[in-house]
Amino acid sequence: MTRSRTTPPRPVDIAAVFPELAAHRRTATRLHPRPGAPGPGDSSVGGPLLWPADEPWPACERFHVGMVTTDGVRLGRRILERAWGRTRRGETLVLAEQEQADLKRAEAPPTDEDDAKANPMPLMALAQLYARDVPGLTCPEGMDVLQVLWCPHEHDDLCLPAVHLRWRRASDVTAVLADQPEPATVEYDDYVPEPCVLHPEVITEYEYVESLPDDLRKRIEDWEEATGHDYRGELSLALGWKVGGFASWSLSGPQPVVCECGRDMKPLLTIDTCEWESPYGGSWRPVEEPDHPAGEFESLANPNMPTAIVISRGYALYVFTCPDSFDHPLRFTMQ
Ligand SMILES: [Zn+2]
Ligand SMILES: [Zn+2]
Repeated sequence: MTRSRTTPPRPVDIAAVFPELAAHRRTATRLHPRPGAPGPGDSSVGGPLLWPADEPWPACERFHVGMVTTDGVRLGRRILERAWGRTRRGETLVLAEQEQADLKRAEAPPTDEDDAKANPMPLMALAQLYARDVPGLTCPEGMDVLQVLWCPHEHDDLCLPAVHLRWRRASDVTAVLADQPEPATVEYDDYVPEPCVLHPEVITEYEYVESLPDDLRKRIEDWEEATGHDYRGELSLALGWKVGGFASWSLSGPQPVVCECGRDMKPLLTIDTCEWESPYGGSWRPVEEPDHPAGEFESLANPNMPTAIVISRGYALYVFTCPDSFDHPLRFTMQ
């Protein structure tokens, strides 16, 4: 069993200060993805899915011309990882001639042949959540695995990858599909996840400040001014990938998310860029994570960006589902 991750206690119990917040409280499960080698039987980000060998892999209906090849993204990361791994802290990155040539090849735009291979474009496995691992993950009747795939090209209003969900019963899958397909090209390298294992942890969240009743919000703001505490940043919503909880509305301000059936929808999954505020600091950094760089060598990735997924300029993508039926269309917001 892997090490767990623990969110530090909040600097103040905000519900003790404002008991009315009890009506604006939800649990969320921080997923805490960390680099690893997940298999199809594991909960993961960027790992193989428990996909039946005899079931077709889904594809995007659109034709996309990619900016970079998926293999190139992975190759480029490995080259840079190696090079940073031998670079002492504070020193400049130096690439050997061969590495420069390999990197150039890795970053080259797709050829017509790559684009042809990419049509139809298989979806990319993004995450897999087993209900047994993720408290608070509510599945459709009889199902116990959520599989998240996306098409790593810009779609629709949000100009973000199109997210697709599949629900399964793990015991239905007797033979797992080997050599799982993936798209030959992606729009940006930011859309290719690094394989991560998960360390789910249940936490408490309080609703986004601007979504609270005016009177309560005003009193919280006065209290922040008097005490120096930060409801928005430290006391209400966690950073990082999570299941459940509340959405932030820091870009657009609160918007209703209403299903076509009329029900208010709830965030099922948050796909976030950063797990905490800065590589070695911030209120949401689990206590197990170092507060300063360890060892004498640099590394490619920031510890607070383990999945390598970047949503636009560092935002989060929220996937909403309808409480009435898992068959009703998903909705999304980026904040
Ligand atoms: Zn697509
Ligand atoms: Zn609905």
